[in-house]
Amino acid sequence: MNSRKQLIAGNWKMFMNTQQAREFALDFQGRVADVTDKEIVICAPFTALHVLKEEWEEGIIHIGAQDVFYQKEGAYTGEISPAMLVDLACTYVIIGHSERRGYLKENDELIAQKIKAALENNLKPILCVGENLSQREDGKALSFVRSQVEKDLSELSSSDIGKIVIAYEPVWAIGTGKTASPQDAQEMCAAIRSTLAGIAGAAANNIQILYGGSVKADNIKELTKKKDIDGALVGGASLDPKQFADLIHNA
Ligand code: PGA
Repeated sequence: MNSRKQLIAGNWKMFMNTQQAREFALDFQGRVADVTDKEIVICAPFTALHVLKEEWEEGIIHIGAQDVFYQKEGAYTGEISPAMLVDLACTYVIIGHSERRGYLKENDELIAQKIKAALENNLKPILCVGENLSQREDGKALSFVRSQVEKDLSELSSSDIGKIVIAYEPVWAIGTGKTASPQDAQEMCAAIRSTLAGIAGAAANNIQILYGGSVKADNIKELTKKKDIDGALVGGASLDPKQFADLIHNA
């Protein structure tokens, strides 16, 4: 048996101005007030975090950011430090999303530093990993994702590795309406867990591993039924309070 609680995290990406965030916050909290068996997180744009702090700081919904820089403070124009996120009541932060790896050219070395800095400030990183379509078609998905996990966690001690969350998000499934089959998602999440066991030993059994990529209210259950899938990272379907609350109830 493991002690893993299901975690459902919304990733708003570059959507939601402050007014929309407030409307969502007020509507959504009543819809999930009855959820006690799952952790709920919303990862909002930096500009909307203060709104979520005002509405949710005392509640059951956790607040997260979508990125963080690894320095404490200094001349880093445009960057946001881990302590600044803690000040905005964040407890989670997405690191290494494939959109940042792609558009912003973030590499594993930078991602490893960000994860370390987040943990030093008691922020829980949600590390995103996943292969692209040609890697999957070439049969290289498992080895690619295993190596991402190893490189991205290379700065951490075994006990710190036990504090992170991993989201397996195949790049070809994000925002495309194509979900990985539950079998393929399970196979990858099991491979990630065995990679984690290789680096961090028994702690791997308690690490939450999420699936992400076109998760909706009507396909979440078949994914979370699988042994090594402990929840989901949800983009598009987290933008509507009713849709996201339904998804959480179905998980
Ligand atoms: P999607 O995005 O649910 O819209 O596919 C998932 C993600 O990028 O985290």
